Amino acid sequence: MNSTFPYTAGAEESDVGLQQFPDSQEGVGRSSAQTWAEAEGYLRRAQRILAITHLSPDGDAIGSLLAFGRAMQSLGKSVTMACQDSAHPRFSYLSGVRDFHQNGDGAYDLLVSIDASDLQRLGTIFLPVEHARAPMIVFDHHITNTQFGVVNVVDSNAASSAEIIFKLLRRMDIRITAEIATALLTGIITDTLAFRTSSTTPDTLATAMDLMRAGASLPEITRRALVLRSYDSIRFLAAGIVASQLEDGIVYATITRKMRKELGVKEDRGDAGLVGTLITAMEANVAAVFVENIDGSIDVGFRSEPGYDVSQVAFEFGGGGHTVAAGCTLPGPMRDAVNRVLVRLRRMIREK
Ligand code: 5GP
Ligand code: MN
Repeated sequence: MNSTFPYTAGAEESDVGLQQFPDSQEGVGRSSAQTWAEAEGYLRRAQRILAITHLSPDGDAIGSLLAFGRAMQSLGKSVTMACQDSAHPRFSYLSGVRDFHQNGDGAYDLLVSIDASDLQRLGTIFLPVEHARAPMIVFDHHITNTQFGVVNVVDSNAASSAEIIFKLLRRMDIRITAEIATALLTGIITDTLAFRTSSTTPDTLATAMDLMRAGASLPEITRRALVLRSYDSIRFLAAGIVASQLEDGIVYATITRKMRKELGVKEDRGDAGLVGTLITAMEANVAAVFVENIDGSIDVGFRSEPGYDVSQVAFEFGGGGHTVAAGCTLPGPMRDAVNRVLVRLRRMIREK
């Protein structure tokens, strides 16, 4: 990590991984040796790769995409790294993010999806007609992954996609530069909230150690990716906390466009880490934050106490995520979205 670190403060809470994959769901546990071999075969043969991560990218999405892109470039391949939405300025210390594209135009012989649980999460980057002839391979760690690739390296036991990319690089004997190490450790730090989530394993820590040895700075990454935030976002968070309600183990808050405007918040997406803050209430089993988008749709973020599964709830509403951290987007108006979700969450708590 260099010492210049241009910093612009930011706000969103990162996503959180999970620990156990329920036995009741098949096919999304650990990937087999054969799956890994197939993925490697596709990558070795490819010349022009379009690597895509999910919209509203978090640190794991950004770090994993950048590390993968640089690794494949080091093998002499042409790689376009793409994401529908731009990276939050807080990740500007990953200077390679400036090479990200916001469209998927071009001719490719391989598509690679990273940290996305379904095709919709790739947003406008995936072009069904133009990309029809290129196979897609998937690297992900979401329990709700829909296995939309021809090869799916999906490991829901991994706390971050960064750990899966690290494994890939080791397997392919690709040198882990300081840039790659910094990108991958960013993914681990953001998805584990600096090793505090139930998804954190001995493997997570071992990988982090290797990445530090390869030149990644743990304190700098933690500070930039996780700790520092804009003053705006602190005010946003405070308003959200004050507006929140706690009922029968459910703590929730709604953020309307009007509220955002009144607070003078410049950013038009994200919850500034509100849902992650609300779930720290001892009285809560589950937290939900409803954010009204510019187009009137409602982004819903979920967090749960271990033992409660919000990935299922989010999945039923067309979204996805991890057991204890998930999300979905619902049509407005706000009141309808809130009612639908609260009914479902009450059932989840009752049925526990
Ligand atoms: P966050 O609340 O941090 O934005 O998201 C928590 C987790 O849920 C992340 O793993 C994220 O990828 C997932 N997630 C959030 N929103 C959606 C969504 O609309 N669709 C899907 N498939 N996953 C989502
Ligand atoms: Mn992730």
